[in-house]
Amino acid sequence: MKDKRLNRSLLRIYNLLYARFGPRHWWPGDTKIEIILGAILTQNTAWANVEKAIKNIKRAKILSVSRLSGISEKKLARLIRPSGYYNIKANRIKNFLRFLNTRYGGSVDKMFGSRLYKLREELLAVKGIGRETADSILLYAGNKPVFVVDAYTKRVFSRHGFINEDADYEEAQSLFMDNLGKDKGLFNEFHALIVELGKSVCKSKKPLCSMCPIRRIRRK
Ligand code: SF4
Repeated sequence: MKDKRLNRSLLRIYNLLYARFGPRHWWPGDTKIEIILGAILTQNTAWANVEKAIKNIKRAKILSVSRLSGISEKKLARLIRPSGYYNIKANRIKNFLRFLNTRYGGSVDKMFGSRLYKLREELLAVKGIGRETADSILLYAGNKPVFVVDAYTKRVFSRHGFINEDADYEEAQSLFMDNLGKDKGLFNEFHALIVELGKSVCKSKKPLCSMCPIRRIRRK
């Protein structure tokens, strides 16, 4: 159930971040399959490296479900090399494609026609797709109302007393999903703003609190 004070505090944080950083225009990508690829490729690497990998895939003219399914895992690994852990990631992409082809006949739209939590369970059953990746796929490619939690989310919101430092994924996620309603537009922008805050201001070792837009907000 929504806690009104938490709702107000979270929205205040959102508004302050939005005022500081502006719209983040997430997720970069022209098609749903490009966004899904990006969500898998961005695991443990900077976005600039993902862009290089996707550029290689576009240059090879294989950015579609059928073409990606048709090339070998080895060739895919070569193309996505700039994203790091390329053999593992090629395997994860192939696992996802096998799931998509088997369960939904290769149709991303059909897949996103499934109910949110059913599809989330299915994605989590694909080897190599964890909660953050599954939720990024659901929110940014599927336009589903699910909040994406990452290390920045945990860092910022534990430092301000909203969650415990050792809060798990579900605990952190429910802070937002229980108290903000199912607003996919808000979830989309909020997560992107938190990432920006974590990268540029709320650094792990030396957070720049004096210049932080949310420095005065604590859980009441
Ligand atoms: S930089 Fe400081 S004030 Fe800003 S979110 Fe991090 S801990 Fe909080």
